[in-house]
Amino acid sequence: MPRRVHLILFDVDGTLLLSGGAGARALNDAFFDLFGTPGAMARVRPHGKTDPAICQEMFRLHLGREGTAEEAGRLMRRYLEILPACVAGSRNFHLMPGIPGVLDALAAREDVLLGLGTGNVEPGARTKLERGRLNGYFPFGGFGGDSADRAALLEAGFRRGEACAGAGASVVRWVVGDTWRDVRAGRACGARTLAVATGGDTLHGLAEAAPDHLLADLRRAGDLLSLLDGLPA
Ligand SMILES: [Mg+2]
Repeated sequence: MPRRVHLILFDVDGTLLLSGGAGARALNDAFFDLFGTPGAMARVRPHGKTDPAICQEMFRLHLGREGTAEEAGRLMRRYLEILPACVAGSRNFHLMPGIPGVLDALAAREDVLLGLGTGNVEPGARTKLERGRLNGYFPFGGFGGDSADRAALLEAGFRRGEACAGAGASVVRWVVGDTWRDVRAGRACGARTLAVATGGDTLHGLAEAAPDHLLADLRRAGDLLSLLDGLPA
């Protein structure tokens, strides 16, 4: 029998942590610096969206058109300059219930590979995770810099993880996230999907997205471990 490996991609915002609005504040300030519009994130609901998609929403709302690749690149660069101070100064930054305990339990298993599956560009994700000391759990991932499309960035993360798993492994893909967008994109990649109601969507709202599994939170690591072990051989 080939060796089974569970390749699990975790979303960041609302799943591992909440930055306490640091990301939106940094985007607001970056947009103001470059385009002179204050409060540009006020009408943008970022949850489950990728950074490049959020940037384009800001351009459409405030410039009345798509941003060019050059403008989007400048906005992201300015955002990444501002983000570390916003994260460091965020009063409401916190890890979600059960984090990092569930990550310790997963990292202790030889049949688990952990990665990120997030719409954040990688330096932004790493900045947020750094404050929570979570970067060490996640050597690879799929990020907003890979694609504006969530399914495509998850696919990039899974390919990186599969390269780590090595030849001959039988890989089971998993996506853990807090919004219906995580569920839909995970399903498009052939992943098993676990939705957690710690962030953007309620249990009821997530149930409508029909994830394979649904938990209120990750407080009990055993809940997730038993999902891995409950798969038929
Ligand atoms: Mg999220």
